[in-house]
Amino acid sequence: AKAAGGNRFEFADAEADARAITRHGLTTALPAALERGEFFIEYQPLVHLGDGSVYGAEALVRWCHPQHGVLGPDRFIPLAEHTGLIVPLGRWVLQEAVSQARFWHQQTPLGGDGRPLRINVNLSPTQLHHPGLVADTVAVLERSGLEPAALCLEVTESALIGADEDLLKPLRQLAEMGVDIALDDFGTGYSNLANLRRLPVSVLKLDRSFTQGMQRHPADPVDLKIVEGIVSLAHSLELAVTVEGVETGAQAEQLRDLGCDTAQGWYYARPGPPDRLHTLSLADAV
Ligand code: C2E
Ligand code: CA
Ligand code: CA
Ligand code: CA
Repeated sequence: AKAAGGNRFEFADAEADARAITRHGLTTALPAALERGEFFIEYQPLVHLGDGSVYGAEALVRWCHPQHGVLGPDRFIPLAEHTGLIVPLGRWVLQEAVSQARFWHQQTPLGGDGRPLRINVNLSPTQLHHPGLVADTVAVLERSGLEPAALCLEVTESALIGADEDLLKPLRQLAEMGVDIALDDFGTGYSNLANLRRLPVSVLKLDRSFTQGMQRHPADPVDLKIVEGIVSLAHSLELAVTVEGVETGAQAEQLRDLGCDTAQGWYYARPGPPDRLHTLSLADAV
């Protein structure tokens, strides 16, 4: 038994080594991958909970790695964040997603709510701290001709915990231009709810863990109360509430009854190529 334990230990060790080697390999390969155009974006529709109509999409980056195949962002965003490559990579994502949105506008100008289709782009903490954020965003919008109101930047709740005015200023400037700011993964960061008032955000994205709580039958009454409380607070601050990770019709119904406004999840559509959003929103319009 002792020997087996020892082997298991060595095995686990070897696995950890292999993971570290891959991490190192991926980290060093990132800059060339960006140059060679190995990244691509999938778009996941955002819908109104009321009627399921599409009003926009979130851009989610992937890496088509020559040896490892398609890698999800959880595999490489933390590495890019660590080395600072997230700044040029994030700029590329923004550029790409904004031109895609501009293209949608030329094809299908309006979402189910009669407003131009929205494009949501994730910003990581390093990008938030980067002094070029506002200028880069303005440049991308101007080059593409996309109206600022069609862009929503998603910032995680944890990135803004304890944020001072210096950090909030660029977000405030963007918000004043008409860009929406969403607080991503909301409810996981233990932020002071009263703090919400001073953040330049217009959307709360309720973390997937709440949606998962709705899966149980009956749903935990405490979970329901928490979601109800968040929604009523958000609405009193004139923030819209988007729910993430909706996988079933029952969840969608429950979250709609709790007053959530919009949703995203496999129940509606998985992330996919950009042309599909065009088809989905056309189908809604018919
Ligand atoms: P996120 O911003 O919270 O994005 C939502 C994640 O939930 C996506 O994972 C999406 O594919 C997944 N998802 C959507 N609907 C469902 C569902 O119904 N069930 C389940 N189980 N999952 C669902 P993905 O694409 O793997 O992205 C993971 C994270 O990587 C994102 O989480 C975001 O934090 C980060 N990320 C993605 N693209 C970018 C980017 O361009 N820049 C930065 N900085 N981060 C990005
Ligand atoms: Ca997001
Ligand atoms: Ca999220
Ligand atoms: Ca998340």
